[in-house]
Amino acid sequence: MTTVLKNFINGEWVCSKGKDVLDVVNPATGNSIMQVPAGNAGDIEDAAKAAREAWPAWRNTPATQRIQYLFGMKQVLEKNSDEIAGICTNENGKTYAESKAEIVRAIENIEVACGIPTLIQGDFSEDIARGVDEFIIRQPLGTAACICPFNFPIMIPFWFMPYAIACGNAFIVKPSEKVPMTMTRIFELFESIQLPKGVLNMVHGGKESVDAILQHPLIPAISFVGSTPVAKYVYKTGTANGKRVQAQGGAKNAIVVMPDANDDTTVKIIADSAFGCAGQRCLAASVVVTVGKDAEKITKNLVMAARSKKTGYGMLADVEMGPVITKESREKIETLIQSGIDDGADLLLDGRGIKIEDYEKGYFVGPTILDNVNPESLIYKTEIFGPVLSIVHVDTLDEAIDLLNNNKYGNSACIFTHSGAAARKFRHETLAGNIGVNIGIAAPMAFFPFSGWKESFFGDLHAQSSHAVEFYTQTKVVIERWNEEWTRKF
Ligand code: NAD
Repeated sequence: MTTVLKNFINGEWVCSKGKDVLDVVNPATGNSIMQVPAGNAGDIEDAAKAAREAWPAWRNTPATQRIQYLFGMKQVLEKNSDEIAGICTNENGKTYAESKAEIVRAIENIEVACGIPTLIQGDFSEDIARGVDEFIIRQPLGTAACICPFNFPIMIPFWFMPYAIACGNAFIVKPSEKVPMTMTRIFELFESIQLPKGVLNMVHGGKESVDAILQHPLIPAISFVGSTPVAKYVYKTGTANGKRVQAQGGAKNAIVVMPDANDDTTVKIIADSAFGCAGQRCLAASVVVTVGKDAEKITKNLVMAARSKKTGYGMLADVEMGPVITKESREKIETLIQSGIDDGADLLLDGRGIKIEDYEKGYFVGPTILDNVNPESLIYKTEIFGPVLSIVHVDTLDEAIDLLNNNKYGNSACIFTHSGAAARKFRHETLAGNIGVNIGIAAPMAFFPFSGWKESFFGDLHAQSSHAVEFYTQTKVVIERWNEEWTRKF
């Protein structure tokens, strides 16, 4: 019988109060490798209470001492990165190298959050009137929770958790029920750093756990990352309940290729962007828009680069692209490819129906490229979240920018060019939160906020860096009168 994962509440591993469980499936084999609780409001109740009890002592612990635990986290992740990456690959499907890269991103966020003693500083004005000073301080909110997607089981919780706890909050992590094993192992390893009980909790589950978080009066702040419909729901419900919410949603990212950038490096970077993590990245290139007459060469080279990507089980050293997350996901991707063909696109490379030797039951889709995709078609407008690249051709940069700006999402947009003027115009006019110039995945480093516009983000303050510090603290403005004649007692 498969084991059922436990929740981590108040420093203890406890069984869920709910009876329903879900299978965790290795997408490369199609085999169930674990079970996870489906979610229960009682679990969230226990975690919220434990966090509330831990909070007063934690917020009164000086920030310089709070960050010592973060140094411990960094060491644990570094020391155990091989094991953590292996678990991630087996439940998510991405390659081992991609799992290792996630750990680096997680660590970078811990490192930035170690700067909280500086990042959390307020401002002070002396003598705003005679003997009167005024200042602003940042204080933690209480308990914050993060609700995570399946595609980055390691990195995404660390966009939030280190900042929240370093700012003096207690925290609850709700991993994706599709990939709950990686965070569970990280929490087991974190026991060695001996955070005070209740400061960091983990509750498993799906919609029921999310709804309980959205309703709970002891959880005033929620960070969410996932698909746009759920992001909207979480934002709407959470804010209606008086909570502070930051909700990152889906995406449909395009890369514009100017005629002067039609070279091998551009092709390699675009292919890595579109097919890395099997296209299951919120910053993956889903569309290439070529500008100018001579698009044949880049189209042909993109097909060659895509065809050369070795698809298979992510733990094997020569594999460059793993499976997609579920059978349903593969079906959705294959249906969208067919809809693109039906709407008139030319199928240049077809990844449907590929069989990988020894992994015949895995959810594999090979790299797929469609040319002359109609911008009005379903495949152009829908987030595919798979290894599928659509190519569109236009005559001018203005047309390309218009096309991108008509996209309902605004997560990222990239341009490849050797012209500073074209790059500058693109950066200035394109309606997306993360812009890349000669970059395939415009992922902000941990010391910049992870931006995102339009239907890709709901809220005001983004994940990471200074935005995270603002999100997890509230400002208090204090005016003090220490007028000497009136208060002098010495
Ligand atoms: P998802 O929306 O299905 O799930 C995300 C989280 O919401 C999970 O923890 C899940 O348990 C919960 N959830 C799912 N359905 C729910 C419902 N009906 N009510 C309440 N909670 C629910 O997303 P996913 O498939 O896990 O992740 C992929 C999506 O995440 C893609 O759309 C991708 O673009 C997006 N994503 C965005 C970013 C970003 O920074 N904008 C980053 C990573 C992933």
